[in-house]
Amino acid sequence: MDFGLREEERLFKESVSEFLRKEVGEKWKAIDEQGFIPTELIHKMGEHGFFAIPIPEEHGGQGGSFLLAALAAEEIGYHDPSMSLAVFTLLNNAWPFVLYLYGSPEAKDRILDTVAKGRGFFGIASTEPRGGSDVAGIETRAEKSGGGWIVNGEKIYISGVREAMEQLDVGGWLLLARTGKPEARHRGITAFCLIGNYNGEKAKGLEYSILDTIGRHGISTGVLTLRNVKIANNMVVGSENKGFYIAMEGFNLARILVAAANVGAARWALERAVEWARGRTLFEKPIASFQGVSFPLAEVAAELESVKLLVYKAAWMADKIYTRKEPGLKPKDLSFYSASAKLKAVELSLRASEHLMKILGAASYVKETDVFRNFLGVLSYAVGAEGTQNIMRYIIAREVIGKEYTG
Ligand SMILES: Cc1cc2nc3c(=O)[nH]c(=O)nc-3n(C[C@H](O)[C@H](O)[C@H](O)COP(=O)(O)OP(=O)(O)OC[C@H]3O[C@@H](n4cnc5c(N)ncnc54)[C@H](O)[C@@H]3O)c2cc1C
Repeated sequence: MDFGLREEERLFKESVSEFLRKEVGEKWKAIDEQGFIPTELIHKMGEHGFFAIPIPEEHGGQGGSFLLAALAAEEIGYHDPSMSLAVFTLLNNAWPFVLYLYGSPEAKDRILDTVAKGRGFFGIASTEPRGGSDVAGIETRAEKSGGGWIVNGEKIYISGVREAMEQLDVGGWLLLARTGKPEARHRGITAFCLIGNYNGEKAKGLEYSILDTIGRHGISTGVLTLRNVKIANNMVVGSENKGFYIAMEGFNLARILVAAANVGAARWALERAVEWARGRTLFEKPIASFQGVSFPLAEVAAELESVKLLVYKAAWMADKIYTRKEPGLKPKDLSFYSASAKLKAVELSLRASEHLMKILGAASYVKETDVFRNFLGVLSYAVGAEGTQNIMRYIIAREVIGKEYTG
């Protein structure tokens, strides 16, 4: 057993960190304040190999692994603790990978290479106004028409709407739509490659708007309204009525990267808290000498180490299943690790952020210290993004106790 990274993994992590120190530095605060990631920075991140990391090179990707993608996400979470750069990066690793696995040659051709180069965006459009957790209950409908499909419905809280539709050359989502009867639940859903914008050509019938979110402002969150949007047959991802399973594979992969980004953000919060606790003197002593201050930080440090190992293990499992394709493993074998990693990393990251704010006292409550940006960014994952914490608990319970008991 070896807990260390391989030389090439360590070097990659360092190169990501070096890039972010140079290209982002303190600019993460301005990115959050202004509400967008500069296009130039996205291009540079693409050139540096931040996107489509686990996709083989012959399909337009970087030919790396999920562990490398997790290491990148971790460093990004550390260097931009408001999480916007991390969200952009993790989506553009997990969801293009799903397209690589199940998309048609035409769909891959249009998306993968562009995303890898930092000129495109590919995310997930699953959530609807009636609720996101019950994916099997979605109502957006796709009907067969001629040689393709006509789609009607509404998707809400969708990440990357402005980036996909306005900022980058190409943008789209893995769209889930009902193709079977509502009673068929998860067995009646198909996944489509919805290309909203292809070099300025917008999908007809697709309208969008941007929501006014409370945090992680650097990446947009919006609404997609589909009115008779035509999708060609070759944009079906996987087979008809199998979209639910495909989306669950994508969520498993994305959640590992969410967890990795939160490990990075928790490390950032811990370092800031330690720095402040050492430097602030009260009652003629540094506040770090009070156990009421140091013990919560000790807890965060201990949990950070354990959660990091869990996240790396989940990424390692993903590589065993998807990039090394070891025999005897199924995509479903990832669910426990992926849900556990997301559950624990987000809880830790939120707690680390809360401790940081409390240790700063009133200083944390003014915009100038910027720590609220970290708290609100991490909160997006506690309230819903990539699945709520209760849904993670449900998945873990199902894996541990059995589906027949947990429903
Ligand atoms: C910033 C942000 C970005 C997002 N980006 C995307 C995106 O790009 N694409 C996308 O498709 N979606 C996106 N989402 C939506 C996200 O997937 C949903 O928030 C999530 O699935 C939960 O759905 P909901 O918010 O409608 O909550 P609901 O599903 O209405 O849940 C409400 C509450 O009920 C609890 N609950 C529900 N079911 C159960 C159960 N069976 N057992 C116990 N508790 C339960 C939940 O845990 C939650 O606390 C984003 C969300 C946010 C906040």
